[in-house]
Amino acid sequence: TPDVRPLVAGNWKMNGTRDSLDQIKAIAQGVMVPLSEKVETLICPPATLLYVSTALATDSPLAIGGQDCHQARSGAHTGDISADMIADCFGTYVIVGHSERRIDHAETDQMIRAKAQAAYQAGLTAIVCVGETGEERDAYQTLDILKRQLFGSLPEEATAENTVIAYEPVWAIGTGLTPTAKDVEIVHAFIRDELILRFADEGKGMRILYGGSVKPGNARELLAVDNVDGALIGGASLKATDFLAIYGTY
Ligand code: PEP
Repeated sequence: TPDVRPLVAGNWKMNGTRDSLDQIKAIAQGVMVPLSEKVETLICPPATLLYVSTALATDSPLAIGGQDCHQARSGAHTGDISADMIADCFGTYVIVGHSERRIDHAETDQMIRAKAQAAYQAGLTAIVCVGETGEERDAYQTLDILKRQLFGSLPEEATAENTVIAYEPVWAIGTGLTPTAKDVEIVHAFIRDELILRFADEGKGMRILYGGSVKPGNARELLAVDNVDGALIGGASLKATDFLAIYGTY
């Protein structure tokens, strides 16, 4: 997308202990200028490593974010963390509506919209995830599902600055399968049209990431597709060398 700074983002999911901080350090050191001026980078470690990760990345352009937040600012929600807590740890992004949250925690579009609003209130950029399941894809429902998820999960206040979309086909996550470049192009163009219909100029500048089995070997092809403004990477973000190799395809 013209005039958009792509974002290469890693989602560590429920992986990583203090030993893994060497990987954060290596990524923080590996994303320096000049490429970092053109491409933004982000790692979302588990909440237990958030604060120490931001400390390790202070002198680096690498951003650090959370993997989820509660929709409320604080209160009686045992086990949850708030957007304010992520910001308090110097995180600048938060993923909301990842398919693993939608499935494992029965999160609805309405909850995800509220989480994105909580992120804005805390000054965080929300990465709002959407994507169809394999069954929905086989039934040719992909675009209908995405339309519904985008409409339901994105708040009215979404802007190009406070919101990133991640298109993650559920059947491509952690499976080694990816859609063809042509399919990614069709879906991202559809998402772009939907964003422009609803948010006008802001929708033109919102970044749309592709996620689902992005690896060093397929990144170049996927990232070159029109309206693909970066990647959300699970498995391949755990190893600094893989993450940096994907970043290096820009
Ligand atoms: C993800 O969970 O956001 C993801 C894309 O995972 P993977 O890269 O491992 O498929």
